[in-house]
Amino acid sequence: MIKYTLTCNNGHQFESWFSNSDSFEKLKEKGHLECAVCSSREIEKSLMAPRITSNNSKKKETLISAQSALEKEIKALKKRIKKTATDVGENFPTEARAMHYGEKEEKPIIGRTTLEEAKDLAEEGIPFAPLPWNDDKVN
Ligand SMILES: [Zn+2]
Repeated sequence: MIKYTLTCNNGHQFESWFSNSDSFEKLKEKGHLECAVCSSREIEKSLMAPRITSNNSKKKETLISAQSALEKEIKALKKRIKKTATDVGENFPTEARAMHYGEKEEKPIIGRTTLEEAKDLAEEGIPFAPLPWNDDKVN
């Protein structure tokens, strides 16, 4: 059995079962098909896409699980950094410079900096990496 969504020439849509794909054509030729609303015999098959729908939902699932895996990784990374690094907040460029030029003992630090300051640090050859998240409340 095949289910088709049918449309009449007046735009009414309804569903009907057929034993196979030929039977729709045969019934239509013999005038056995008519619209349930307006009794029109000008019936056409609508395009159905049940497969596309199921493919879409599968894709969505894959995306969600990939995202949560990444979130887990970032969470673990965050934990590790908070354990080992000192948050120097807005002083990041100053602290990074002091350590780079040997004025301070080197240690892992995290903090915030502007794009301009980050560019300056990079030009001076000070190693740092942008963190893959935007966290205003780093403790
Ligand atoms: Zn109709």
